[in-house]
Amino acid sequence: MYEYQCTACEHRFEELVATAEAEALVACPQCGSPKIFKLFSSFSVGAARPGSGRGPGLPPCATGGGCSGNCHG
Ligand SMILES: [Zn+2]
Repeated sequence: MYEYQCTACEHRFEELVATAEAEALVACPQCGSPKIFKLFSSFSVGAARPGSGRGPGLPPCATGGGCSGNCHG
């Protein structure tokens, strides 16, 4: 199951495509144009999440272990 968008009318639709031959026959169900392109799922795009660093208030100690509180001063 892939999601496509028509370049002619920008209609989005899903199509069950099993082979490359079948994909070549996919056309827009709204206007019938074969000029379509595949949309990719958005879960892998712009996945950078804020707050991935150290929590607030923690010193930027990168040595790990043995830090007695003076590693940043
Ligand atoms: Zn169309």
